[in-house]
Amino acid sequence: MPMLQLEDINVYYGAIHALKGITLSVEEGQIVSLIGANGAGKTTTLRTISGLLRSKTGGITFFDKPLQKKSAEYIVCSGISHCPEGRRIFANMTVSENLEMGAFTRKDKKEVAATLKTVYEHFPRLKERMFQMAGTLSGGEQQMLAMGRALMSKPKLLLLDEPSMGLAPLLVKEIFTIIKEIHEIGTTVLLVEQNARMALSISDYAYVLETGKISLQGEARALSESEDVKKAYLGG
Ligand code: ATP
Repeated sequence: MPMLQLEDINVYYGAIHALKGITLSVEEGQIVSLIGANGAGKTTTLRTISGLLRSKTGGITFFDKPLQKKSAEYIVCSGISHCPEGRRIFANMTVSENLEMGAFTRKDKKEVAATLKTVYEHFPRLKERMFQMAGTLSGGEQQMLAMGRALMSKPKLLLLDEPSMGLAPLLVKEIFTIIKEIHEIGTTVLLVEQNARMALSISDYAYVLETGKISLQGEARALSESEDVKKAYLGG
């Protein structure tokens, strides 16, 4: 049984049919990536899993429990955390206040403090800047903060939307190293990326999304060797 299963997901924005019958699964312990061009529906897929958008058909299960019709808060409490595209940090709050917001569903202060310590271990740059206003962080630091905040709910499954967006190559490398570390401590990851090469290099399995439909799927290594994927997403 997969950890997460999406079955025949159809999502609309008014008259726009953004997801057209998406079926996909994520096995516990894996890194699964979702790649595809702009507007293919990657962000929409993550927002639907998080309960921010609703599918007209089908269903989503997490550890065999249905998620559709559940609130976004219920979904966070059940172990899914979403690190959104464009970071969406709270600019007028400090780094540490942003991180505390990520633990809003948790009651045990001691355990939250232990998670905060782990987050600072993964992101020493955030620790150095804990009292700095988040809006004054660099782009890469803001990405780290968004990821750290998502980890504060201690998720079993982390949804990561375009973590490499707008970052210089060295920082992209750093962010991907951190994703691998987060995965190694036992977090399953569903990664949305335009940087298909980097995404495939750390993933076990991948799906290619094209205009709201899955056009290809397979082991990440096999996909990165596929001629179609090379031509369309890996620059030939
Ligand atoms: P990108 O990499 O550019 O973020 P994406 O694969 O994440 O792309 P989505 O953001 O999921 O794509 O968008 C899928 C489709 O839904 C696009 O055609 C987009 O224009 C449309 N769409 C997304 N959000 C809205 C909205 N709020 N209202 C109307 N249409 C939307």
